[in-house]
Amino acid sequence: MSVERSNTTKILLAEDNQESYEMLSEYLEAWGYHIIRAQDGKEALQITREQRPDIILMDIQMPEMDGLEATRILKKDEELRHIPIIALTALAMQGDRKRCLDAGVDAYVSKPVSLRKVTGLIETLLKP
Ligand code: MN
Repeated sequence: MSVERSNTTKILLAEDNQESYEMLSEYLEAWGYHIIRAQDGKEALQITREQRPDIILMDIQMPEMDGLEATRILKKDEELRHIPIIALTALAMQGDRKRCLDAGVDAYVSKPVSLRKVTGLIETLLKP
């Protein structure tokens, strides 16, 4: 990972759970990423439109609007659909994985999240 690039990489972390948010954001910030937070799906849409993150980590179970709905809306938006979305979900059954992929997520990680796996996916999805 290039330090120069990671310092300027903006990650939107859409996560309503405080503990999960802190765990992930502390780890990713230690890697040099810049973290922006959204606490529900509606906020994730608004912040994506305003701040154009490089990549989105999207919790699926959130209040107001869930991560699946937010993903569907973003992937229909011509200006925002290129932003990679990694779904974070406690749902572990195969049908739920399919629901995530059908909604348009680029990758999927089940909770409890493997930090190494998440950083690996971020690097892969951000490769030019
Ligand atoms: Mn949640």
